[in-house]
Amino acid sequence: MGTPELGAVVAGAGISGLAAALELQESGAEILVVDASDRPGGVMRTDHIGGFVIERGPNTTQVKAPMLAFLRRQGAEDQMVAARSEGRRRYFYRDGELVRVPDSPIAFARSPLLTGKAKLRMLAEPLMRRRDAEGESVSEFIGRRLGDEVASALVGPFLTGVYAGNERELGVEAVFPSLVEHERKSGSLAIGMISSALRRGGPKGLRGSWSAPNGMGPFARSLAERLVEAPALESRVTGLRRDGDAWLVFISGPGGPQRLRAKRVVLAVPAPQAAEILRGVDTDLAEALEQIDYAPIVGVPLGVTPSAVRTKIDGFGFLVPHQPDVSLLGCLFMSRLFAGRAPTGRDLFQCLLGGTHWREAIDQPDDVILKKLHADLDQIVGLDEEPETLAITRVRQAIPQPGRNHRRLIAEIRRRLAELPDIELAGAYLDGISVSDALASGLGAASRLEQRTAAQQ
Ligand SMILES: Cc1cc2nc3c(=O)[nH]c(=O)nc-3n(C[C@H](O)[C@H](O)[C@H](O)COP(=O)(O)OP(=O)(O)OC[C@H]3O[C@@H](n4cnc5c(N)ncnc54)[C@H](O)[C@@H]3O)c2cc1C
Repeated sequence: MGTPELGAVVAGAGISGLAAALELQESGAEILVVDASDRPGGVMRTDHIGGFVIERGPNTTQVKAPMLAFLRRQGAEDQMVAARSEGRRRYFYRDGELVRVPDSPIAFARSPLLTGKAKLRMLAEPLMRRRDAEGESVSEFIGRRLGDEVASALVGPFLTGVYAGNERELGVEAVFPSLVEHERKSGSLAIGMISSALRRGGPKGLRGSWSAPNGMGPFARSLAERLVEAPALESRVTGLRRDGDAWLVFISGPGGPQRLRAKRVVLAVPAPQAAEILRGVDTDLAEALEQIDYAPIVGVPLGVTPSAVRTKIDGFGFLVPHQPDVSLLGCLFMSRLFAGRAPTGRDLFQCLLGGTHWREAIDQPDDVILKKLHADLDQIVGLDEEPETLAITRVRQAIPQPGRNHRRLIAEIRRRLAELPDIELAGAYLDGISVSDALASGLGAASRLEQRTAAQQ
């Protein structure tokens, strides 16, 4: 029997791979999505445990313009549910207490998060000299423009929440590209932001934080169900080889090794796995991909009795800036954000540990993790009874860490990739780590493949 032939193979059924596959399917191609795991969604996984709906990966998502347009094209806009408005209240743990993050200019002026001196320093931002931000860390850039206190007291904890990373190591060009652009074009962040707000047209996303009614896992499954051909699960793409005008895709699955011929390929797998697959095709490209660093995350959802928590709990949750005596990165109050996440009379706290501050957490036994978590929670919110541990999820390659040279590294990866025919990369390590950005990267990969095909005709 000959080698089966397809329009495209997409390796990876995370959000980036699903988006790429559905977009390619729209153009009529016969697609096969291949994923190493036993279910689609990648890190987006939801489980029902003891009446709680727990997330193993992302808890919420933004819906940026490309994601909204994609959901509308798929007729899937009603798959999303907005977080309750109380989710706008967010807290940082500072000097032994939870301090509300200001969400308006007046609240900001009154907030104890920054000293009066730091607030005045911020006002001087438009007077600061313009410099080239190439190679700068977030903390160097923000410190230079807005003052060191803003970098450590505001931006640091925010990056702990989003990247599980460190503002002194994350590269500003990758993390805040629009701020770098404002400085470059307008000489000031404030002036740049005001003028872009005045100019702003074009497609918009949805405001606030979102999930799906039954969680992010079912959302991924509903996207996978839109594929004509169901994803091949528990199957791993192990390598590629050029074969005439197509790619030979080597797959190892439950039925043993297999190979397919595909006109086009999207690798929507994390960077280290993409490097493995591409090693036999382009060693330099594989080596560039290997340089992408990831932070691990340990997620611990807890069932809590509200009356056993001494601090009043409301809002989205709290983040903990890096400090020696606390291991917890932050905690989301999921049952306050979305209906149906906890049984009546109980709250669901989604706690996160690890990140670049405590990389070793991923290899710690459960009792070490739980001891630290309980002690931290007791210190931060005060616990009168031990919370119920619903699960412990360890994700080793959880969050890509774009460093100071990330933009140049990605440019180099794209330059090398462009020399290979009909293949694209997608995923959270390329242009943004959020669900919404990873989805957009899948759409981008599909559209670049379409453009390549059009250019060949
Ligand atoms: C614990 C955690 C919490 C997060 N919280 C949030 C949040 O609240 N909000 C937010 O916006 N983002 C959050 N993120 C980030 C976001 O969820 C991810 O960046 C995004 O979902 C990644 O999607 P992806 O498609 O790039 O990769 P993945 O989801 O990692 O998918 C990659 C897929 O490739 C498969 N694969 C790997 N190797 C192979 C192979 N050789 N062959 C075939 N398949 C293979 C894997 O099985 C996997 O399914 C979180 C991430 C984690 C881990």
